[in-house]
Amino acid sequence: MVVRMTSDFQHQTLAQHVSFSTGAGPRDLAAAVTRAGATRAFLIVSGSSAEWADAATARLPIAYRFGEILAHVPADLADRARIAAAKVDADLLIAVGGGSAIGLAKAVTLTNGLPIVAVPTTYAGSEVTPVWGLTDNGVKRTGTDSCVLPVEVVYDTELTARLPARLSVESALNGLAHCIDGLWAPGANPVNTALGTDAIRMLADGLRAIDGDKVQPAARRDLLLGAYLAGSAFASAGSGMHHKVCHVLGGAFGLPHAALHAAVLPYILAFNAPSAPAAAERVARSLGTADALEGMANLYDRTSSHRALRDLGLSREDIAIVADRVLAAIPASNPRPVDIATVRHLLTAAWWGAPWREVSGSDFSQWNPAPLVRHATPHNHS
Ligand code: NAD
Repeated sequence: MVVRMTSDFQHQTLAQHVSFSTGAGPRDLAAAVTRAGATRAFLIVSGSSAEWADAATARLPIAYRFGEILAHVPADLADRARIAAAKVDADLLIAVGGGSAIGLAKAVTLTNGLPIVAVPTTYAGSEVTPVWGLTDNGVKRTGTDSCVLPVEVVYDTELTARLPARLSVESALNGLAHCIDGLWAPGANPVNTALGTDAIRMLADGLRAIDGDKVQPAARRDLLLGAYLAGSAFASAGSGMHHKVCHVLGGAFGLPHAALHAAVLPYILAFNAPSAPAAAERVARSLGTADALEGMANLYDRTSSHRALRDLGLSREDIAIVADRVLAAIPASNPRPVDIATVRHLLTAAWWGAPWREVSGSDFSQWNPAPLVRHATPHNHS
């Protein structure tokens, strides 16, 4: 079946210079700093990439090196980084790390307007979006501002060489979530659908090529390029139900971002697929199967990721605490109507790691997770 989108649409392209290489990151970073005309760069660097960043920036005009990175960008951390950047009169931010390091740079830019050069080391995709996030007292606020979109992105597949295999898998599944959620997000259009569809194929190729603890260079190339396309699709389509659910849970309980997205994605796909047949068809085709859930099950079977929210530090009582907030965050345009019982049931299923297919049923309001829970095992998901 050929899936066509024929309606009128709006699409905004985002201005950004992107370099992609294997091993040429230091050269590309130097060129980016030169293009930015910087003389006092403020380097934000994650500990895992410190060695690479120190070598790559040894000859660059770095005025300050800020190495304190925390998940979900706590507001007081952002304040400390802003003060440090102001003290050295920085004229550029360079962020080397995952979404947390890049998110911190965005939080700084939000108040001082400095341009950002992002050097991503995971597949989170924050580098290609104008979305910022800040967490204060367990509540994560996000917003969109074109000033936080990095002016330059330097991708180097060698930076992901030390990303542990499980984090590689979960971060790539986070990228996959950008693509799939983007297919029914409020800003879905033919451009971001094309980007997202191709990104699913690339990310799936990369994920299938992961061999135990080894993530080969060719797989890392597929994953990083796929993550770039996935992030670009997400930047344009916006957050759908999946991202809204994860955003509320992640901010409220400080859950690990990539693992959370990986664990929740199949449940949202299973839930929405019957009401979004064109999107499901695209997912299936990109995964090389006749059925989207079957394709996801094949992919998850071949890779290792957390499958249940209970394994990520969420307690069962937490579900009741956030259910209302989750419901309020889900876009009204979601292809399948969502009510509070749905939210509780979906989160309960994801908490147990119950079989995904069970949440696809047409009369979800009648769904009872209890029988599923008895059968739930970390791998019983198809
Ligand atoms: P992260 O940046 O928190 O990194 C996770 C862990 O991996 C950290 O311990 C880090 O030190 C380590 N790590 C990162 N790169 C590594 C590497 N190459 N080798 C070894 N270890 C490495 O996690 P993330 O998933 O990249 O980002 C999550 C954050 O990004 C969340 O706060 C999320 O909200 C945000 N985010 C924002 C957007 C956006 O558009 N604004 C998009 C995606 C994610």
